Amino acid sequence: MAFSFSITHCDAGSNARTGVLKLSHGEVETPAFMPVGTLGSIKAISPETAWDIGYRLILANAYHLYLRPGHELISKCGGLHGFMNWPGGILTDSGGFQVFSLAKLRKIDDQGVVFQSHIDGSRRLFTPELSLSVQEALGADIIMCLDDVRGYPATESEARDAVNRTTEWASRTITAKKKVDPALFAIVQGSMFPDLRRISAEGLHSLGFDGYAIGGLSVGEPHELMVEMIDATTPYLPTTKPRYLMGVGKPQDILESIIRGVDLFDCVLPTRNARNANLFTSTGTLNIRNARYREDQSPVDSNCGCALCRNYSRAYLRHLFQEREIFGFTLATIHNLNFYFRLISDIKCAIRENRLNSMVKQYSSQTEEIND
Ligand SMILES: [Zn+2]
Repeated sequence: MAFSFSITHCDAGSNARTGVLKLSHGEVETPAFMPVGTLGSIKAISPETAWDIGYRLILANAYHLYLRPGHELISKCGGLHGFMNWPGGILTDSGGFQVFSLAKLRKIDDQGVVFQSHIDGSRRLFTPELSLSVQEALGADIIMCLDDVRGYPATESEARDAVNRTTEWASRTITAKKKVDPALFAIVQGSMFPDLRRISAEGLHSLGFDGYAIGGLSVGEPHELMVEMIDATTPYLPTTKPRYLMGVGKPQDILESIIRGVDLFDCVLPTRNARNANLFTSTGTLNIRNARYREDQSPVDSNCGCALCRNYSRAYLRHLFQEREIFGFTLATIHNLNFYFRLISDIKCAIRENRLNSMVKQYSSQTEEIND
């Protein structure tokens, strides 16, 4: 089924909106947060559990799956949906960010990027066309164009080169696309230069994509600069297409981005923090390893109805982490992904009732670090 996006409500007091993404594998209400399943697995939980929490769209990674086990193998095994038994939508990242952050000896030119695999050191050439064909072989519902990602800080001239190359590569990706059904999203770059963000957004918009991502953020820049770059980008993106802020983030960042008109998010934070004993709660974060929870028989968050909070105490979860029991990772991940799902559901509700501004204010005042 061909991809579509429809907006169902616009918040009266901000740029936030609710909408519905129609994908080959079902519908997804937006704003939406995508749990990260880089290697075709959401670490520590089953796809069935993610589905039961309510998630209908997850993220996987072209770079990682291309290196291991290989997209051809996954294609033979029914595509990524069949391989990992996930019935919902899958967005695959193009590999631009992973080549930038993981690979050794990255060398970019107009053709593509030559890098050494972070797994076995082998030399590889990743091109926009190869990234696309890997994602098509995986059977992604949403495909991302390969982009040229720069670190922070980058010079204006480096950032300009990256913008030009990203637009050129996005154009080549359109030309090379074989499958009709998957949506194709382009990624806005421009580092921390508002003018370049505008040029990147306008250039990609003129090529015409199904959706637009804001990339190259959350790479070490201060929070205010990240927000400034979102503000410098969204006015130049078409209002009728979905907007995806890549790799962000913290609950407060998500709120501040949704209010600026962002629809989609992914981040390792809920799952990675869970495995580090860090739990999100309605009153802030807590580290369950802390000695103060040794005899605490209350749930992690009494406002949460997840399998952890319904059935187990803080004392038990702390014990599991102290003993490095794998079940602790599972329970903590279930809880954090429930927290994110509920947060986004509350935000959608606030948008529909035109009260997102007051929710943002209330949220910042009620959450504080209660531990760490
Ligand atoms: Zn919970």
